[in-house]
Parts: sequence; structure tokens; C-alpha cells
Amino acid sequence: FHTPKPVNEPVLSYAPGSAEKKQLKEAIAAARSQQVDIPMYIGGEEVRTGNKHALSPPHDHQHILGYFHEGDASHVEQAIQAALNAKEAWENLAWEHRASIFLKAADLIAGPYRARLNAATMLGQSKNAYQAEIDSACEIIDFLRFNVHFMSQIYSQQPESSPGIWNRIEQRALEGFVFALTPFNFTAIAGNLPTAPAMMGNTVVWKPAYTQIYSAQVLMQVFREAGVPDGVINLIYVDGPAAGEIIFNHPDFAGIHFTGSTGVFQHIWRTIGQNIARYKGYPRIVGETGGKDFVIAHKSANARAFATALVRGAFEYQGQKCSAASRAYVPSNLWEEVKGYIIEDLKSIKMGGVEDFTNFFNAVIDEKSFDKIANYIEAARKDSKIKVVAGGRYDKSKGYFVEPTVLETADASSVTMCEEIFGPVLTIYVYHAENFEQTLELADKTSPYALTGALFAQDRYAIELGEKKLLHSAGNFYINDKPTGAVVGQQPFGGSRASGTNDKAGSMINLLRWVSPRVIKETF
Ligand code: GLU
Repeated sequence: FHTPKPVNEPVLSYAPGSAEKKQLKEAIAAARSQQVDIPMYIGGEEVRTGNKHALSPPHDHQHILGYFHEGDASHVEQAIQAALNAKEAWENLAWEHRASIFLKAADLIAGPYRARLNAATMLGQSKNAYQAEIDSACEIIDFLRFNVHFMSQIYSQQPESSPGIWNRIEQRALEGFVFALTPFNFTAIAGNLPTAPAMMGNTVVWKPAYTQIYSAQVLMQVFREAGVPDGVINLIYVDGPAAGEIIFNHPDFAGIHFTGSTGVFQHIWRTIGQNIARYKGYPRIVGETGGKDFVIAHKSANARAFATALVRGAFEYQGQKCSAASRAYVPSNLWEEVKGYIIEDLKSIKMGGVEDFTNFFNAVIDEKSFDKIANYIEAARKDSKIKVVAGGRYDKSKGYFVEPTVLETADASSVTMCEEIFGPVLTIYVYHAENFEQTLELADKTSPYALTGALFAQDRYAIELGEKKLLHSAGNFYINDKPTGAVVGQQPFGGSRASGTNDKAGSMINLLRWVSPRVIKETF
């Protein structure tokens, strides 16, 4: 193929005394000591509306990191127009030139921007240094480099020809503009959703979650410095429904690249359906939404490995991953041992601000999320079938802190076994160790989601049975590992059922959604 073969970006350790730790500490201190003024970027112009909103670290909500300029309907119109204006030149640029820009963006993040982008993710989204490093350094770098590689494969593929006939496939960009609607929980996803369609020759209107604007603006600076031309990616901060009203009514709307809640995605899908006759074509709808991810142990499982997977899978980044372990099925023969490990592990977890690198556990994203999680915990406390095994306290006086909370339920269909909480709450159901097969069936039916899931067993027959019975229960299925932390190029990520369209982020499948092939047959 035409592009360098990508390898996964190594994860830096931030060990005491390391150069990277010193740089990151300096970047955090520099970010905390200033208040940045954050414009929108439309058609290459920095747009300041004067309608400014403060951004604060979720773990320290009295501190102000900066202000972003909020836009309105007119800015959505302008961003669409800028994207349409930039389209012709961009889609006609040879793909190798588009590839160069994104390879350079990856190198900028790997090098000069690494500390700044990690610091922005740590402060703006309350991620600890390790969680930031695997997201806003490694994963976004991998998305960019692997996608360029997949893109080169897509543009290299041609159909068979025969004597007197020459067949060609032309991978045209979509006709119109693409909308990227991105979440707070991964800076990498926020970066991937606009860049994947852009690589394939599309121009994009990008609206990040307000709670991710602080790192989104650093990404935007990287894209500009890497050479993304004006108007190819337009970054706007506009209220979601107001932006949707204009975008989904627009005749040039060609597709949406989405990660967020199931409710919002279903609403978008319905709106697009209602407006279908307005568009030039059938818009591409690519979305990753919620999860209610299961971890099931068979009686043959290694209890220590299983407990580690539960603690890490449920509580890394405060459980705010679509992939987080949130319901566990534990066989009765292992429960006492597993419970002991969980309680012991949780005792060693420190909670606090991200500036102190020994805090594994930080704050949840905002007050709305904090209140929602606290309500789930309170409802569980009142439920006679549920016991609080660990955690359960919360406090928002300085930051939005919720303790890692483990609930044990006697009812496999209790609310916290079924609904996505998107916070640090793990619910455990203990099943009779001989009822493994029934438990697999139960786990499959308990939730409408199918994003990730994990099975722990040493017994090979149990592993095979689990794979079969849980065929449609998860798009990313882990055997003897936690259900989080998919690595680009190794475990392409995405779910089915209510969890999304399963177009696997960071894969050729995903990039193919952003082109509309034309086949040309010429006879001689
Ligand atoms: N890809 C991430 C993981 O494997 C989860 C992405 C998400 O939360 O949307 O943990």
C-alpha cells in the first residue's frame, strides 16, 4: 500500500522523574494559570460572538479555565455554507495530499501537542494522566494513522476488467456536508468523528459536547497547523436541538457521524426520516450510542482476574465509558472471594483532582450527571432487594465526586441491571453456579444494548457456549479481559442493537460509509 504501515502509539508511563511527567505537570500548571478565550472556527475564521460561557474542571468547579463563545442559528448556517464552499477543492485534492495532512496531525499530537492536549483533557474532562494518555494521545494518533492506512487500501481497490472492457471504481465523497456530533468522554472520539469523513473528501460541521470544548479547541488548532484547509472542518458551539433544527432540514445534509446517547440518536434518526424527501440522497447515519455492558463469570473463572476486570472495567474514568462494565453475573462459588478482592482494591483507590497523579479516581463530568447518578444510588438504597457492597457516597461541594459504588441485587432485572447510568456504579447479580447457561440467556435479554461484554472462564466448553449464546449481545466481546480499552487497529470498536450502527470506529468499514462509489465501465 501507499502509506506507512501504522503501529500503535506507545503509551507513555509518566513515571516519577520522567521527562513526560515534567512536561505534563508544566502544561497543567500553565493551563490552570490562564483563562483562554475560545472562539468557534468557521471557514477558517475565528468567530467570537461575545456570548461567553465559563469552562471549569469537573473536579474543581470554582476554578475557571476559560470562556467559549456560544453561537446561534446564524453560525450553523455559516458553518454549513463554509463546508459547502470548501467542498469542491477538497474532494478533488489527490487523496495522498489529504492523507499527508492527517499524518502530520498525528505527528503533532505525538510530539509538540501531546502534553497540552493531555492537560486539556485532564482538566476539562477530569481524566487522570493515564486515562488522558490512552485517549488524547494514543487513541487519536492511532485513529489518524490507521485511518490513513485504511483509506489508502480503499483507494487502491479496483474491480476486475476483461479484454475490451476496463472497469473502474471512483470513491466519490458524499454529495453535501457531513455533521459530526461528538461526546465528552473521549477526546479521541471527538477528533475521529470529524476527521474520518474529512479524510474521504467530505467537509464537516463539527459540534462537540459543551463539556469537551476545552480539549476540542486544542484539537482544532492541531488540525489547522497540520494544514486542514479553511472550511473543511468547522467547529461550532451551538445548542444541540437548535443546530439539529437547521442541519437536518438542509437539502445538502449528507450524513452524520455521532457518538452520544441512545435517546438523542433515535431522535436524530426519526428527524432524518421525517425530512427524507428534502435531501439530495439518503444520508449516511453512523452512530455509537449507549451500553449496559455485562461481565459474566463461569464457575471455572479465575476470581482474581475477574475482580480486577470488574474494578477497572467499571471504574476507570469514573465509569463514563460506553464500554464500562456495569452489570456483573457472578457464580455463587466465587462470590465471597471476588467480593473480598473488590473491597480490598477499592480501599487502595484514591479519589481527588487530576493534578495529583496518585488519584486514580476523579470527578464525573457535570452537575447534571452527578445528580442523575446520585438518584440511582438513592433509589437502590431504598430497594429491599439491593445491598450496597462498597461506596455509595457523593459530594459536589468542590467537584462532582461520586464514590466507586458496588451494588448487589437479588433481582436480575432491577433498574440498575438494565438502565445505563454512565457513572461509577456496578451492579452484581449472584447466580447459582450450576445455572450458567440460563444466566447467559438472562444476560442476553436483560438490556436492549449490545456494545461490549466480557466472559471469564477457564473451561473451554463454557467459553464456546458463551460465544454462541451471546452472539448478538455485544459488538466487542472480551474473553478473560475487561470490556473497556479497545485499541485502534486491534479491536475495531462498535456495537449493535440499541448501541449503534456498528460501523466500527477506526476501521475500513467506517471509512467506507463516507464515500459513495461510482463504477465506470468503458468498452473499446
Ligand atoms: N472505545 C472505548 C473503549 O473501548 C469506549 C468508547 C466510548 O465510551 O464511547 O473503552
